[in-house]
Amino acid sequence: MISVDNKKIQFACPLDCFDGCTLTAEVADGKVLGIEGKKDHPLTKGYICKKGAAHLERMYHPDRLLCPLKKTVTGWQEISWEDALEEVSEKLNDIKSQYGTLAVLHYYDSGYCGLSKMADKMFFNYYGGVTVPRGSLCWGAGIAAQKYDFGESRGHHPKDHLNAKTILLWGRNPYNTNLHLMEYLTQAKQQGTKIILIDPIKTKSAQIASEHIAIKPGTDGALALGMAHHLIVSGMINQQFIQNHVVGFEDYETYVKTFTLEKAAAVTGIDADTIRQLAEDYGKDQPACIILGYGLQRYSNGGSTIRCIDALGAITGNIGISGGGVNYGNRLIAEYIDGEVSKSASAVENHRSFSRTFLGEYLEKENNPPIKAVFVTKSNPLVQGPNLEKTIRAFEKIEYKVVFDLFMTDTAKRADLIIPCTHIMEEEDLLLSSMFSPYLNYSEKVVEPRNGIIGEYEFFRALAKKMNLSQYPDIEKEEFLKRAVKPLEEAFHLTFEDLKNNFFTVEKREIAWEDRNFTTPSGKYELYSKRAEEEGLCPLPQYSPPLEGEIQYPLRLITPHPKDSLHSQHFAFTKEIPVVYIHSITADQYGLAQDDLARVNSKQGSLLVKVAVDDHVGRDLLMIYEGWWHQSGSVNFLTEALISDMGEQAAYYDCFCNIQRETGQ
Ligand code: SF4
Repeated sequence: MISVDNKKIQFACPLDCFDGCTLTAEVADGKVLGIEGKKDHPLTKGYICKKGAAHLERMYHPDRLLCPLKKTVTGWQEISWEDALEEVSEKLNDIKSQYGTLAVLHYYDSGYCGLSKMADKMFFNYYGGVTVPRGSLCWGAGIAAQKYDFGESRGHHPKDHLNAKTILLWGRNPYNTNLHLMEYLTQAKQQGTKIILIDPIKTKSAQIASEHIAIKPGTDGALALGMAHHLIVSGMINQQFIQNHVVGFEDYETYVKTFTLEKAAAVTGIDADTIRQLAEDYGKDQPACIILGYGLQRYSNGGSTIRCIDALGAITGNIGISGGGVNYGNRLIAEYIDGEVSKSASAVENHRSFSRTFLGEYLEKENNPPIKAVFVTKSNPLVQGPNLEKTIRAFEKIEYKVVFDLFMTDTAKRADLIIPCTHIMEEEDLLLSSMFSPYLNYSEKVVEPRNGIIGEYEFFRALAKKMNLSQYPDIEKEEFLKRAVKPLEEAFHLTFEDLKNNFFTVEKREIAWEDRNFTTPSGKYELYSKRAEEEGLCPLPQYSPPLEGEIQYPLRLITPHPKDSLHSQHFAFTKEIPVVYIHSITADQYGLAQDDLARVNSKQGSLLVKVAVDDHVGRDLLMIYEGWWHQSGSVNFLTEALISDMGEQAAYYDCFCNIQRETGQ
C-alpha cells in the first residue's frame, strides 16, 4: 500500500499484453519504494498481474545489466558508453562501405510496447535501410485473415461484451493472459450471459464458462463450418445483413453445404449434437460475440481457421452491433500514430526482408550480400524463435552481434556487444496495446536510470550524430513523442498535456464496424476475397486439415503463454525444468506418473521435463508453457520452423513429439 506522504508517479506497463495497465510508483529520495495498479484507469482499475508487480524487482535486480559489455577472450568487459558508440559506429560504417547496408540485419519484436523505443527502426532507416524480419511469431495469421474479411482487425470495447447474450470464448485463455477480460466475463456471467469455452485444453478460464467444448487441435475451422451449415439450413442467418454488407455468400453457401454436422463432428472430435447446440446458442441468442485467442492460428491452417470463424459473425449479422463482433485484435489508436518513425521510411534506400520464423535458415543461406552484423532489440529470438538449435548455430557464426536488453538473456550471451536498456520507470513514454485495451497510456519518468544508462532513444540519437546521419531528428524525447501523436491531437482537438493527464480512447468506436464501412476493396465484408485469390489463396473461408505427426512422433505439442511470464521475460531467474502437462490415459500409455522426469523428443531436439498428469489436457497432446530459458530448457528446441497459410505466422503448434520416462530415476 502506497503511503500518502511520498511522491506518486504514474507509469505504464510496457509488456506486450492484452490489458495495458497503468501503475503508480511511490518515490522517496529518488528511489521507488513500491508500485501498485492505478485505480482510476477506466479499464484496468488498479488490478495488476504478477508480471506487472514484478516491474519493481526487475528494475532493482542485482543481475540487471548496467553498462555496455564487450565480449573478449577473457570474458565480458565493461566499456564506456562512448567506446560502445565508437565501436558500433565504426562497424556500421565499415559494413556499409564494404557490403552495403543490407549486410546488417535488425531483428526486433514487441518485447516493449512504448513508442520511444521505436528509435531503433528510425536509426536503421536513416542508415540506409537494412535487412528486417516480416511475419509474426504471435498473431500474424489472424491479422491477415481479418484483413481479407473486414479490411482490418477491430475489436469492441471490452465493456460492450456485457451486452452479449452469448459469448464464444474461442481459444482465448484470459485467466492466464488477459486478466481484465476475465473480470468483464465474470460480470457478464453474473448477469446471465452464456459463455462457452472452445479449447483443446480445459484451461482455468473454464471457471467463468457454462460449458467447455474440447476440440481436436487445429480443427476449429471445421467446427465453424459445421456450425455455419446448421445455421444456413435452419434459416438462422441474417439475410438483410448478408444482402447489404456481404460479398460472396452464394459461393460460401455452396461450399458450406458440403460441410455437414456429421462431417464437422468426424473432423473435430465433437459430437454432432453439441455442434448443433453450439450453432443454435450462437445463432439464436443474439447479440452473440466471439472472442478469439491466438493459439488457434499457430497452425499451418491458422489463417483459414480465423476466416471460417469470422464468417459466423457475418452470416448471422453479429457484426457492427452492440454485444456482437469477432474480437481478435483492436488496432484503434495505432492509425493515429505517425511522426518521425514514419517519416524516416523515406530515407530507406535499400530494403530486404525475411520471414522471422526462418531466422536461422536465413542467416545461414543469405549471401547477396551475406549478413555481417545482427542487431537485436526488444526480443529474445534465441529462446522465442522456433528450431532453436539451428538458429543458435547460425547466429553464433555471424561476425558481429549487438543485443539490447535489461538482462543477460540467452540471446545476449551470444552477442559481441551488449547495450543495457532503460527500465520503463526510468524514461518517459507513451504506450498502446493493439490487441484488447483501447487506451493510450502515458508513462512518466519515475526515477533516474540506474548507473546512468542512457537508454535506446539517446543511444541511437548519439550514434546517428557520430555517423553524421544528418537527416536523423536530433530532438528531445518529449518532442519525438509529441510528433508521434500529432495526428491524434489534430483529429480529436487535444493537447499533449491532455493525453498525459487522461486515459485517451477513440470515442464512438466502442462497437467495431458500427458504420458497416468495411475497409476491404469492396467496402463490404468479404466472404469471397479477390485479394486472397490474387495472392494465391482460396478466396473463401475453407477448412484444410492441420499437419499430422509421423508414426514415431505421434503427440502434438502445444506451447501456450504462461500466466506469470510475458514470453521469456519472467523466466530469467527460474532454475527448475519445464513441466509437461499430459492426460492420464496418455501418461499411462507412456508409463509416466506424476512428477516423473521425462524426455520429450521431436525431430528438432529433445527436452528434459517434469511430468504433471492433468486430464484438462486433451489426449494425444503435450502442453508445455513457452518462455523457459536455456538454463531450464526451452520448448523451442523442439519446435520446427513452419509457417501458417497467411501472415507468415510461425506454426508452433504443428510440432510433433514422443515422450519417454527419463532413465536412471
Ligand atoms: S502484464 Fe498485462 S495485466 Fe499484467 S500489469 Fe502488465 S498490462 Fe497489466
